[in-house]
Amino acid sequence: MTVHTLITDLQTRGMRLVDPRAGAESRRGGAGPSDHKAVTIDGMTVMVPVHTAPAFDSPYLVEAPDEKGRARILKDGAPLAEAAFPAKPRFTDLSTADGIPYGHIAQLHSRDVLATTVLQTCIRYESRKKTCKFCSIGQSLAAGRTIARKTPAQLAEVAKAAVELDGVKHMVMTTGTPKGPDRGAAVLAESAAAVKAAVDLPIQVQCEPPEDDSWLRRMHEAGADSLGMHLEAVTPEVRAEIMPGKASVPLSKYWDSFEAAVEVFGRGQVSTYILAGLGDTEEAILRTAERLCAIGVYPFVVPFVPISGTPLESRPAPRPEFMARILAPLAQMILASGMRATEIKAGCGRCGACSALSAYEKLGIRP
Ligand code: SF4
Repeated sequence: MTVHTLITDLQTRGMRLVDPRAGAESRRGGAGPSDHKAVTIDGMTVMVPVHTAPAFDSPYLVEAPDEKGRARILKDGAPLAEAAFPAKPRFTDLSTADGIPYGHIAQLHSRDVLATTVLQTCIRYESRKKTCKFCSIGQSLAAGRTIARKTPAQLAEVAKAAVELDGVKHMVMTTGTPKGPDRGAAVLAESAAAVKAAVDLPIQVQCEPPEDDSWLRRMHEAGADSLGMHLEAVTPEVRAEIMPGKASVPLSKYWDSFEAAVEVFGRGQVSTYILAGLGDTEEAILRTAERLCAIGVYPFVVPFVPISGTPLESRPAPRPEFMARILAPLAQMILASGMRATEIKAGCGRCGACSALSAYEKLGIRP
């Protein structure tokens, strides 16, 4: 089995662990790759579901790691590949002067990305009718694993430690959407400015498109190197069904803001996260990706993962063949447009751990 096929298979079917304590702690709940664990296969670190319903029945089993942190991956009992687990980051042993563990302020994603959710609350999440059905932003807060609002000073303190102790290379700042027309851009701008004043670390900020495009420039001037505005679903029907609150911001606004953002951040430094498996067809996803590539927005397509405790927890993950039919032409499309994951200054596209897309891109896999 080739490495990109194995990664696609693992990310859709999950894996079972003989020793759940291996490597850095897995993530449960929250924004981004929840219920996952980082694992390195053939030099590529990827996030693989471990706490989801499909993962409990996965044919993939990872044996307990040896003293060097290496473990065999078995499929239906037969050894298939070797995996390693990124070690627990040292910055998470620290706490702020007022006793907040650094790990409640930011976490390590993959092996060298510092990630935080600046506001752990969201206007969309507060109502059952409006919530994005795949999202678990409130779960880690309810479980006491994070704090509702990370201050700029806290973020700066943790980012500095993560660079000095663990060599993190870039930072992702996402946020729940607050009330108000800036849609989170204001807190992201002040947070990026504080981190940049403390340490030299490329930052990607992620929010819904602010009503007023001037926020794009303000975030950039505050120190954000790249920007993510995430479509998640690409057709109006799927948006209305899966994310009824967020769908109140029409797709036309996303397209306008994408174009405005590329003018500020540059081609290939604006990206969008698309979850394949929410109901959009592969044709719809590829059509949208084509338009994104044409205007210089990096389409980061990842498999939907049914997070425990969310309204979509019982929805099946996409089939690996469905992902392969999207990722192979998508990688070619991205390369043809002149964009590269490796040239993104910071963020999910550069990290790539939530998708096999970068493996397809790197290996130049053709459909
Ligand atoms: S791709 Fe983004 S969300 Fe996924 S592990 Fe990397 S930084 Fe985190």
